[in-house]
Amino acid sequence: MRKKLVVGNWKMHGSRASNAALLSGLREAGPWNADVAVCVPFPYITETALALTGQAMSFGAQDCSAHEQGAYTGEVSAAMLADVGCRYVIVGHSERRAFHHESDQLVADKAKAALAHGVTPIVCVGETRAEREAGQTEAVVKRQLAAVIHTLTHCIGEIVLAYEPVWAIGTGLTASPEEAQAVHAVLRMQLHAATQKSDAMRILYGGSVKPDNAVSLFGQADIDGGLIGGAALKAADFSAICRAAG
Ligand code: PEP
Repeated sequence: MRKKLVVGNWKMHGSRASNAALLSGLREAGPWNADVAVCVPFPYITETALALTGQAMSFGAQDCSAHEQGAYTGEVSAAMLADVGCRYVIVGHSERRAFHHESDQLVADKAKAALAHGVTPIVCVGETRAEREAGQTEAVVKRQLAAVIHTLTHCIGEIVLAYEPVWAIGTGLTASPEEAQAVHAVLRMQLHAATQKSDAMRILYGGSVKPDNAVSLFGQADIDGGLIGGAALKAADFSAICRAAG
């Protein structure tokens, strides 16, 4: 039985004051039966770590460099994330693939850098609306995952995978539980062919998860929790989603 995982992706939102209020709301609402984490903007990682001292909740970042160290102005290495205590890092979010032209291979290299430093990469895959309408959903997510499998080889079992249909992110549109489950089953089979650990691996769903759709999504056989954007910014909504996973 896989324990559910719910991860909040704060994206480029927040301030010291609003983060403190949000984390205090979450501290009061928890703990939950699911594993819970928040992935926060880089400048707020250390304060988040302090605010979560003694709490069951983990924290992480939203990106990392594929490089080990050096002259890469503006980048943050996986070693640095490990140094400040990050448990997770999101890699390959569709916003980075789209706005920063990140390739499947770069995403895989970032996942490898994270694992090398003991930070669990949450690898995002997902199709655009045009790709879904063209019947390419399966081919796209399999191609994105294949690059990670090829790069990580026997370590693939250490990642968390997140299926995030691009057309559902921040749009209020959600894949139906059946649509999401169908893709999750395809991804699990692909993992199964690559590692004996596939049954223990967590595949999260992301894309407009809200308190009112979380139970039906998380009830699907291969959906092991959620990657939550907008709803992660309100303590009441995020904690209701965490409860739905418990
Ligand atoms: C996300 O950004 O990973 C996400 C799933 O966003 P939202 O929940 O707002 O669709």
